[in-house]
Amino acid sequence: MKETNCIFCRIAERQAPAKIVYEDDTVVAFEDLHPQAPVHLLVIPRRHLPSLQAVTAEDEPLLGRLFTVAARLAREHQLESKGYRTVINNGSWAGQSVFHLHVHLLGGRVFRWPPG
Ligand code: 5GP
Ligand code: ZN
Repeated sequence: MKETNCIFCRIAERQAPAKIVYEDDTVVAFEDLHPQAPVHLLVIPRRHLPSLQAVTAEDEPLLGRLFTVAARLAREHQLESKGYRTVINNGSWAGQSVFHLHVHLLGGRVFRWPPG
C-alpha cells in the first residue's frame, strides 16, 4: 500500500528525488537529505508502515531484510572496522519526523552514548 502524501513512499516510487544507493523488491536505501554523519543512509520498506509499532509477525522477514541491507551498505561504505550505528526512531519523544518506517545507518565518526 502506497501513501501518496508520504515522502518516503514517493521516493521509493521514484516520484520524488533522492540519491538511491540500493533497491530490491522489498526495500530501498537512499542518502539522508540532512546527513548527521559522513555516511547517513536510510533503509526503508517499499510498503508503507508508519513505524515499528505497526509491524506484525508477518513482517519479520522484512525487518530482517532492512538490517541485512544496512549491514551490507555499512560494509560497502567501509564502516565495518571502525563501527557504525543503526537507529529506528519511534514516535514523538524519540524524534521520529517521517512516519514511514526507516532504519538510519550512520557512520564515519564517533557516536556518543547515551544518545541525546
Ligand atoms: P526520523 O527523524 O523520522 O527518524 O528521520 C527522518 C529522516 O528523514 C531525517 O534524518 C531527515 O533528514 C530525513 N528526510 C526527511 N525528508 C527527507 C527527504 O525528502 N529526502 C531525504 N533523502 N531524506 C529526508
Ligand atoms: Zn510511506
